[in-house]
Amino acid sequence: MLMLCLLPWVPILCPVGIFSLLVMLAIAIIAASRDAIDHLRRLHQIPCTGCAYFTGCQYLKCTVNPSIALTEGAVACRDFAPNSHIQPLCTRHCK
Ligand code: SF4
Repeated sequence: MLMLCLLPWVPILCPVGIFSLLVMLAIAIIAASRDAIDHLRRLHQIPCTGCAYFTGCQYLKCTVNPSIALTEGAVACRDFAPNSHIQPLCTRHCK
């Protein structure tokens, strides 16, 4: 009985439902994109590659704070010292 009452509304409710789902999908994509952009901006603030204590070696990335080197924890690192020499300290054996 209920189905028979809703039957005339199906041509209206289906497009509205599909449109609502598409709007929610678009909102979710926009929110995920914003989160990804914010995360990338934060990762680009990591100063380690321009730091004098950064070795470039995968086994010991930093001689001062190896646990936070190249992580988000290094963004506000108090031991950051601008690198004055261009050549990396890493040798071929590190890679
Ligand atoms: S001292 Fe700080 S900024 Fe420099 S390489 Fe180590 S963690 Fe990164």
